[in-house]
Amino acid sequence: MLDFKHWVKRLAERHRTLLSAEHITQTSDHRLRQIFWATEIALICGALIMLYEGWYIPASVGVCAGICLTAIPWLIRQRQAELASATLVFVLAIAMTLLMWTAKGLHDEALLVYPGLLIFAAMTGTRRIFYALFCLVITSSLLMGITAETGIVTFNVPDPDFASGVLVSIILCVIAYAVWLLSNDQRLLLDRLSRENARFKRTQEALEHLAHHDPLTNLPNRILARDRFHQAFAHCQRNGTELAMMYLDLDHFKTINDTQGHLVGDQLLLKLARRLAKGLRTSDSVCRLGGDEFLILIQEIADENQVIGFAEKIQKLVCEPIQIASSEFHVSCSIGIVLAPGDGEDFDTLLKKSDMAMYQAKQSGRQRFTFFDEKLNREMHDHIQLIADMRQAILNKEFELSYQPRINLGNKKIIGAEALLRWHHPTRGLLYPDIFIPLAESSGLIVEIGRWVMLQACKDCLQLQQAGFSDIGVSVNVSVQQFRREGFQHVVAESLDKSGLSGVYLELEVTESLLVEDHDNFMDVLADIRQLDVGISVDDFGTGYSNLGFLRRHNFITLKIDRSFISNMLVNSNERTIVDTILNLSAGLGMTTVAEGVEDEATALALTAAGCQFGQGYYWAKPMPFDQYQSYLSSHQDQIHH
Ligand code: C2E
Ligand code: CA
Ligand code: CA
Repeated sequence: MLDFKHWVKRLAERHRTLLSAEHITQTSDHRLRQIFWATEIALICGALIMLYEGWYIPASVGVCAGICLTAIPWLIRQRQAELASATLVFVLAIAMTLLMWTAKGLHDEALLVYPGLLIFAAMTGTRRIFYALFCLVITSSLLMGITAETGIVTFNVPDPDFASGVLVSIILCVIAYAVWLLSNDQRLLLDRLSRENARFKRTQEALEHLAHHDPLTNLPNRILARDRFHQAFAHCQRNGTELAMMYLDLDHFKTINDTQGHLVGDQLLLKLARRLAKGLRTSDSVCRLGGDEFLILIQEIADENQVIGFAEKIQKLVCEPIQIASSEFHVSCSIGIVLAPGDGEDFDTLLKKSDMAMYQAKQSGRQRFTFFDEKLNREMHDHIQLIADMRQAILNKEFELSYQPRINLGNKKIIGAEALLRWHHPTRGLLYPDIFIPLAESSGLIVEIGRWVMLQACKDCLQLQQAGFSDIGVSVNVSVQQFRREGFQHVVAESLDKSGLSGVYLELEVTESLLVEDHDNFMDVLADIRQLDVGISVDDFGTGYSNLGFLRRHNFITLKIDRSFISNMLVNSNERTIVDTILNLSAGLGMTTVAEGVEDEATALALTAAGCQFGQGYYWAKPMPFDQYQSYLSSHQDQIHH
């Protein structure tokens, strides 16, 4: 966020320095010099007149003063302006006082200089100089009066003549000149001050605008959105209507940004922002929360249908093609909706809830709008909590593998087992993979968990082999995400390496969706895994779209016929046909097949008769913890594959 207070402060400081220091020093130095020269000229003229009149003592006082004053330009050069002003004031004040004492006392023309000096001191000097001068002139005037009254001194007061008229004129001219200069400066300074003030105000307004608006779209930002919400909500409450808050997030905007560059992304946001702002009523607000997220406030909602109408309208606005340069872009958005006061009365709560509803809209396939729903919210919280717990689960050793034996239907021997993950949650008890695997996948935690599963399964398998079940193998479920992750083959190699298990005994169960992407990286990983002698099987075969061409070229892959077909094959002829087709297909391609979810003897027999080689299911055994599995193997010694 832009810290505009900080900016205003800096701006104010800048103006203050502009109005004071350097500039003002320069002007006042210049003024001081001008007044100095005017004074010098006046003193010379005065001295000449006094010499001409034969007033030698006052003339010499004037000359001395003139000489003393020549220190002023030097002091200015030394940057001692204050001292220079003080010198001017006091040299003149003393000179004038002397003149008065030696000549006409309070009747002397020099008395006129006093007010001039006081004005000058007040306008240029410091307070100290002014007070000192004030004391000096008052004391001198009073003393002069007292001494004259008491007769201690007698002043010679001739009638004014031409010379004194000229002297008075000279003094008045210099005073007028100095006052004119200084007051002019004051006026200019005031002018500048008011101009600067106006500029400062304008900048402050601009900064304030910036602090409350998004710079790209000029829409209100989050700070102003809060304000707008309070106004709109108050308005709705007065009218007894509701306020709808919509959290809008563009779908796949990141892809556009990444592939087309940020400039195009910015243009797109700008055009969308304008479109949204134009498409709504003036009483409604569109704000940009940041990135590709907008907040829309709609006032005076009478019922939910009206909100739906607005949401549809907004989606239509967003979906219209956007032209940028010569390209046309199509975007969609997901919208989360809350109603105030129904879903809450305070901005932060509503914002959070609308964000959650938006997330739900995304989860359910994007390009849709979702109203906030307390139940969904609880579920989401639950999921978030479960993901957080899952992060700890490996460290806390809460995971465990269950094993479900796989049987060779031909000779009824156990050839190995499928490792199935179980989670002993500290508070929720035993959890099955259907609950947590999707969350592990969506959060990316599956990569780490999958690595643990593979290593543990290999270790367990080797332990069994060392216990005498020498040909027992293990199959491990692998998520698409794990497989796609770079270096997956190394994870497999590492598990074999660390456990010491031979690759022949390990099989990876992947889903059909992986086979559809027949791309180079996948082929490389597959080749590397083959290199390790590790087997691959397609889990839940028949439920997705398989790439048959791919299977033909890779007939080492085992097919695991999905449980849903097996469990119904004896009662549903469609299912039976599918199972037969798969078995024929795999026989034709020279592939191996496993039937999963076999629950009774009749199914087992039917599968055997149809040519299925392996089976797995409750009919033989349910998945069981490792120890139990080991006992199971011991008690079925004669059925173990050797
Ligand atoms: P799946 O790979 O299809 O695993 C078979 C599931 O069917 C297991 O459920 C098993 O208990 C159940 N099952 C086995 N025989 C029968 C039967 O005769 N009848 C019925 N009704 N069910 C049977 P489970 O253990 O709950 O596993 C569910 C899914 O979780 C698995 O489906 C698998 O996709 C996934 N999963 C399990 N462990 C892992 C793992 O370590 N990693 C990954 N990525 N996924 C796993
Ligand atoms: Ca499986
Ligand atoms: Ca399966």
